[in-house]
Amino acid sequence: MRTMKAAVVPELGAKVEIRELPVPEPGPGQVLIRMQTSGLCHTDIHAAAGDWPVKPNPPFIPGHEGVGIIERTGPGTGQHQPGDRVAIAWLGKACGNCSYCVDGWETLCESQENSGYSMDGAWAEYALAFDSHVVTVPDAVSSFDAAPLACAGVTTFKAVKVSRLQPGETAVIYGVGGLGHLALQYARDFGGRVIAVDIEDAKLDLARQLGADYVVNARTTDPVAAIRDLGGSDVAISLATSPRAFEQAFGSLRRGGRLVCVALPADDKMTVPIFDTVIGGKSIVGSIVGTRKDLADVFALHARAAPRSSRRSGTLTTSTPASKRCSRARYPPAWSSRSDQQSCGPAGTEATESHTVATLTESVSVPLDALGNDGSSLRSPSPAPGTPPADDICVVRVTLRVCGAR
Ligand code: ZN
Ligand code: ZN
Repeated sequence: MRTMKAAVVPELGAKVEIRELPVPEPGPGQVLIRMQTSGLCHTDIHAAAGDWPVKPNPPFIPGHEGVGIIERTGPGTGQHQPGDRVAIAWLGKACGNCSYCVDGWETLCESQENSGYSMDGAWAEYALAFDSHVVTVPDAVSSFDAAPLACAGVTTFKAVKVSRLQPGETAVIYGVGGLGHLALQYARDFGGRVIAVDIEDAKLDLARQLGADYVVNARTTDPVAAIRDLGGSDVAISLATSPRAFEQAFGSLRRGGRLVCVALPADDKMTVPIFDTVIGGKSIVGSIVGTRKDLADVFALHARAAPRSSRRSGTLTTSTPASKRCSRARYPPAWSSRSDQQSCGPAGTEATESHTVATLTESVSVPLDALGNDGSSLRSPSPAPGTPPADDICVVRVTLRVCGAR
């Protein structure tokens, strides 16, 4: 029996363990993927901690930002072939038949499977995924670059689409973290004038480098007043996990403005003025990840555009109290100083620890103990054909930020 190493959440709230497991067999509609790399999303932390109302069923393998090569296909497949390089995203499978699925909103399907949550994910040397729902990665996008696009990229791209941002309109991005630094680039791609709000100058510097027209440090400046001085914003995208930031984002809108809610604050409530919403014709909409088509569009965009990331490699060395919901996992490298200060709230109670996480690769040993483990390494058996040198692609850097108690 062939075996593989996998990072397993043994029970909710427990540390991740590296286990030796049988390489799974692809069932009907499934493909077996030899993983090259995987990102670490904050949702993985929530999954391991069992933070959300619908909980995963341990033991399970997290990871929904995986890229690898299809090794085998199960019965009833045909969209992808062995040798194809594909991405595993959060939307592991949707029913394909409900009103949402047939109307282009498969992300709202009530019978969906989610990678690394309701089905095992990408933090292993091999992963099963559905042929119908993996997305081909174009040659021009490295596996390393593609991995975070499978969640952070598609999520922010979709949020900008949902905002209906028009060329010449203004978009304000609240939070220049792992999602925000992508969102502001997409907003520019859509023709928007972009304002970035954060509470760290280093991130605002990054925002400027990535093309933000204005930046506002919300620690020192009232962002609502500053943005109103600029004429207000047509679109606000809230990527900060603080209800206060959502309220400020709403307050930044001019008449007719649209607030897109993306982040999921642990404190689940925000307050908005009804009068202003009605008189100002403002709207508030939620946006969750994106469809397979959205992800394919994101890959195509990155394949055409100049590289937006630089690469650094690192290894993971930390343990994070998985029970602390404000612990943060972010990648990628230097589109990235990708930590997320809003995750800790504007109060700034964070005790920062920066760590790096490597991924499941052919040549880099990966002490994948982001959540604390025994320090085992994950090592794939052999390099995938055609993959760039390991130093170049194989390690996804993650910054974990451990916050103080709320
Ligand atoms: Zn994610
Ligand atoms: Zn459906």
